[in-house]
Amino acid sequence: AKEQGKNKYQVFHTGMNMQSYRSFIMQNDLRKAIERNEFELVYQPRVNVVTGKVESAEVLLRWHHPSWGSVSPNEFIPIAEQTGLIVKIGDWVLRTVCQQVKRWQENDYNLVRIAINFSARQFMQKDFLSNIERILEETGVAAHLLEIELTESALLENEDFVINALHRLREIGIMISIDDFGTGYSSLQYLSRLPINILKIDRSFVQGIMDKSSENRSITTAVISLAKSLRLSVIAEGVETKQQLEFLGLHGCDEVQGYLFCKPVPQQRFEEMMLQGNG
Ligand code: C2E
Ligand code: CA
Ligand code: CA
Ligand code: CA
Repeated sequence: AKEQGKNKYQVFHTGMNMQSYRSFIMQNDLRKAIERNEFELVYQPRVNVVTGKVESAEVLLRWHHPSWGSVSPNEFIPIAEQTGLIVKIGDWVLRTVCQQVKRWQENDYNLVRIAINFSARQFMQKDFLSNIERILEETGVAAHLLEIELTESALLENEDFVINALHRLREIGIMISIDDFGTGYSSLQYLSRLPINILKIDRSFVQGIMDKSSENRSITTAVISLAKSLRLSVIAEGVETKQQLEFLGLHGCDEVQGYLFCKPVPQQRFEEMMLQGNG
């Protein structure tokens, strides 16, 4: 499947609109982005609601395009997924994170678990697990320092394959979280059979916590109690206000992540934060 995206350079033809022109250029430029060193990883700390300490962080990909500047992952990740380039890009993300964590291990930083986003397409690769194991072995990173964020859609692909892969990840010792939880369609019965550790409440619900209508509050508290009854941790993303934090704390959310505490920061800034200890 790695070969799939490689030889399919799309031919530009007149009649394409600006949007497809941009994505045409983007596809071709994405292929060279790794070699040209255009990717950067930024880190967003998550805060434990009870202790106020940073216990983990999510790593997010940034692409600095030579002529467009910074391109949002919301724009280039879907293109990377469609073309299959996400497999190679995802490998780069995992390897780079592991190399960084290894340096932190060696330099006695205040280590926290790093959560990496995985696309369904990556997760469904036959060599997905052996690849992770190899990278862990090569870099000597402790598995418990890694977390994999998967969306519900990734879990709905091939049930047996998914359950098997998740069990093996758990054996290795990697944490698994379900990202954007509540926006997909996984059934509760299915969920209860998956060896996962964490549910992440989607930002759209968190943003609506102070709405007049109670809908988003109900969904948020329902996700938290579901997590508790399945003995999972629950993390809220996109927390921007004190009111949202208060509501989440009151209802037993474990960790929070959002602009209220910290935007995603470059590696160097994140390292400074880890040296200062959990402030
Ligand atoms: P996501 O996994 O749901 O990541 C959370 C997004 O919310 C990030 O956007 C983050 O910067 C943003 N965010 C965090 N706190 C707040 C807040 O308080 N308010 C608001 N408005 N936004 C907040 P970002 O970095 O632009 O990433 C967008 C999406 O791109 C991610 O959504 C994820 O689906 C995808 N993505 C990013 N990096 C990777 C990667 O390395 N691999 C894969 N497969 N996907 C990635
Ligand atoms: Ca995520
Ligand atoms: Ca998310
Ligand atoms: Ca989201």
